[in-house]
Amino acid sequence: VTKLESQEEQDNDLLQKNIILTSLDTVLKWARSNSLWPLSSGLACCAIEMMSAAAARFDLSRFGYEVFRASPRQADLLIVAGTVTWAMAGPLKRLYEQMPEPKYVIAMGSCANSGGPFADSYSVVPGVDKILPVDVYIPGCPPRPEALIHGMLELKRKIKNPEIARRKS
Ligand code: SF4
Repeated sequence: VTKLESQEEQDNDLLQKNIILTSLDTVLKWARSNSLWPLSSGLACCAIEMMSAAAARFDLSRFGYEVFRASPRQADLLIVAGTVTWAMAGPLKRLYEQMPEPKYVIAMGSCANSGGPFADSYSVVPGVDKILPVDVYIPGCPPRPEALIHGMLELKRKIKNPEIARRKS
């Protein structure tokens, strides 16, 4: 019996006893991806759809993402829901910096993605990725609550598979 075969036999014994072996890293990624705590913040009309996603009809809590926090120190997800003006860029960046690592950013809607209908305005940031690293972009003006839920599930996939997570630093 080779060493490899005896190891396989030991693994099979453990599986029959319902003992599952995994790495701590895999457990952490699983836990993080299933319990995102979004920051309770909104900038414009897209925030109404974000609130709707958390209410009874769309029920964001089905996925474990409904614990919106009022403090950035207790949040790990910033949903940029609405128009980012240059006047708000500084406070938004400061909120992001106050969130503990690991933290994630979703750009929700055309305004957050690229400035949307206000892209040519002197007062609007033409995409929040000019000031923050964005993990997931959700198109629409505004995106429906289902689109936000889809975006959060895409983020879940990226957290579990960091090799597909490419974001600007
Ligand atoms: Fe409002 Fe449309 Fe901009 Fe969302 S993308 S904040 S709905 S103008």
